[in-house]
Amino acid sequence: MKPVIVVHGGAWAIPDALAEASVAGVKAAALAGIGVLKRGGRALDAVEDAVRKMEDDSVFDAGHGAVLNTDGEVELDAIIMEGETLAAGAVSSVRNIANPVSLARAVMEKTDHVMLTSQGANLFAESMGIPTLPTDSLVTEKERKEWEHYKNYSAGVEELFNSQWGNDTVGAVALDSFGNVACATSTGGIRNKMVGRVGDSPVIGSGGYADNRSGAVSCTGHGESILKVTLARLILFHMDQGRTASDAAGFSLRYMGERVKGGGGAIVVSPTGDWTATFTTERMAWAAIQEDLLYYGVHQSNMHTRVRLSVFI
Ligand code: ASP
Repeated sequence: MKPVIVVHGGAWAIPDALAEASVAGVKAAALAGIGVLKRGGRALDAVEDAVRKMEDDSVFDAGHGAVLNTDGEVELDAIIMEGETLAAGAVSSVRNIANPVSLARAVMEKTDHVMLTSQGANLFAESMGIPTLPTDSLVTEKERKEWEHYKNYSAGVEELFNSQWGNDTVGAVALDSFGNVACATSTGGIRNKMVGRVGDSPVIGSGGYADNRSGAVSCTGHGESILKVTLARLILFHMDQGRTASDAAGFSLRYMGERVKGGGGAIVVSPTGDWTATFTTERMAWAAIQEDLLYYGVHQSNMHTRVRLSVFI
């Protein structure tokens, strides 16, 4: 099986000033992920590595650079899942952690549970020896300013989602040379969310899903909408019915738009290597690597760039 990695850096109306850095961030993450796969690593290792890269990159709303809730605090959500055994781990509303995706993996591998939340997730992180960071070290000056600016703004989150709000959730899906798929998604959620609000990202079947029999998906977009249509599972359902990855993602995203008025995006890979990066928001930064070709884009429409990988390494 020829390995594939696809990553996203969040669906929304990314302003020009951030678009270039977002594209650079997803390209770096895809390169990290394919490196793992080419060294014979598993899809699970590749998606964790790619997502960690983006959590560490403060241009994205995950780990460093996360958005703030109404209290000015960072609460992070993440999921990781592998398609061979359907093993999954997730954390929600966890604080003061740089790489929630790795904590989610520890939940998957070291507990009998699928999700740990808030204080319990933090206590577990401590017991695993995962270092705790002061909130301020995760918050960028830009985010603090945006939060100050918007905290008194009372328009609905849904209305704002496709306009000026940055919600650069990150995610990755991969197919490894053993035929296994995996997904991971990580986010700070939506700016000015209520304390304790959990979006789609850490919820199995909504923010992500992976099954060797169907494929792997990582979603981004308006969390409450994604939850209502269980977007990741919906896309895989349509693939099981015979649609291509691209058709299934487009169909499901349009359904979400019609049914609950939510915008968003998804990256998908099938067990045969059929992949897509599809979105209904104005922009979504994404990158994919298959057979030594790097594809990336950020604009709506089918516009993307394709480069032979040797140019990059
Ligand atoms: N889906 C994320 C959330 O609602 C936000 C995003 O993808 O940008 O938490």
